[in-house]
Amino acid sequence: MPYQGEFANKASHFDIVKDPEVAQFLEDCGYLKPPSEEEGKVIGAFFEVPPKVDNVELPQQIIAIDGSDYPSSIYEKLPSTEIGYVKVSSVLIDMAKFGSLRVGRFVDPFRVAELQNDNNALKFLLPSSNICWKGKTSVRDSFRAVVDDHLYSAKTRFKPDEPKTSLRTTLFHLASRRPGDMGTGDTQILKLHKCPSCGSGPIEVRDIPETQNCPNCNAEVYPSDCLRLWEEVNEFQSNTPVMSRFMQVIEHLLPMHYIRYLVENSLVSLGSLAFFVDRPLAIFGTAAWLHRSIMLYLAEVNERLRKIHQPQLLIIGLQKSGQVVDHVSLIERFVQPNQIFAIDDGYRYRYIAPGRDRSQKGFGDETYYGQDFIYKTDSGRSFVFALPYTFASKDSGNFVQVKTEIHRYSNLPRVIALINHFECDLYENALIPIALAHKHTAISLVPGGRVLDILTREALQKKS
Ligand SMILES: [Zn+2]
Repeated sequence: MPYQGEFANKASHFDIVKDPEVAQFLEDCGYLKPPSEEEGKVIGAFFEVPPKVDNVELPQQIIAIDGSDYPSSIYEKLPSTEIGYVKVSSVLIDMAKFGSLRVGRFVDPFRVAELQNDNNALKFLLPSSNICWKGKTSVRDSFRAVVDDHLYSAKTRFKPDEPKTSLRTTLFHLASRRPGDMGTGDTQILKLHKCPSCGSGPIEVRDIPETQNCPNCNAEVYPSDCLRLWEEVNEFQSNTPVMSRFMQVIEHLLPMHYIRYLVENSLVSLGSLAFFVDRPLAIFGTAAWLHRSIMLYLAEVNERLRKIHQPQLLIIGLQKSGQVVDHVSLIERFVQPNQIFAIDDGYRYRYIAPGRDRSQKGFGDETYYGQDFIYKTDSGRSFVFALPYTFASKDSGNFVQVKTEIHRYSNLPRVIALINHFECDLYENALIPIALAHKHTAISLVPGGRVLDILTREALQKKS
């Protein structure tokens, strides 16, 4: 195992490429390479002028969701006994109230301090390795029980004494919409593909507080077993990858959680709200199935918004790292300012993921619920962001093509206007939500009684 920092030295990177054996090996590998001048010109021609943003109304409020995870040994002498610590903050930026502060670059130090306080984030402690919880006999079973306990707990509820406002109930809403045999069409019931103990299934579980058991082996089963995160839990090694998966799921579930709550309590508020997530709109790993439920759910909510003449949901997956961002750094100089491109499959397999096996049903068929865009602003800064697909499912015959048709994204002008508005801040800082929060004096927005007050327009109007 390398010592910490051994590969961090730039000189050693340089040397490794000079090694003829490494050079030969790389020769035989497919990976991102800078385009030639000719290729660059071809790439530049894929971009087009974005829709006009004159008179576009910016969202009044932004909810930014940001997670971090830390594996942690509990004692120095027991390095392989670990707990995982996942923290997800949701912060609210009120454009109307704080927008004017931007000019003077005013930062309220008390607000910033408040943000950094752990109490303002959702905290999830998880068993990682060699730890069992409440008498469970394996790390895996402990992990399952803890995850369900977290999702059901009062801290994820909008009203602590109402279990139906929990994150677990939001999971029921999504899982019941799962297309095909695994969907139930009933938000009180979801299906587990199999019992984690005996493997029989599918099994139905209900949105109730009581313990539920497998009808075949009588072992406990939990609604959140449907996320299948437990399948990747390792008994004796660090479970850092599972912690990251868990964090990813929470980061995608939280916007749906807020949306569900507002649909039930103040639908009209959704029209003036934007969500920022700092990753692609895709769910990877065993919980990937959720992405189809999310597509369907968003389409349903958009339909309801349309009926009350409100703008469509605005969810932006702003990416600061990853393959597309790396690619952009290689091609940026070939793209004119004020240009946009919705990445299509042909382009992706040719320039971004060369040599990859092309998915039969299109890129991201099993994972993505949003379209990636590359946008270069007027002042020449490039951004990679995703917007949810504007379809309830991917079943239309030509989804691969229609998903990249820019005119279908009615929210695109608002996103462009928003990115232009935040341009400097977004560019300078890797952790977008926190950066925005610091610069724009955000309020922490963990689920709780205040959320509705804060988010409803009525409340805002009363204040002003
Ligand atoms: Zn069983």
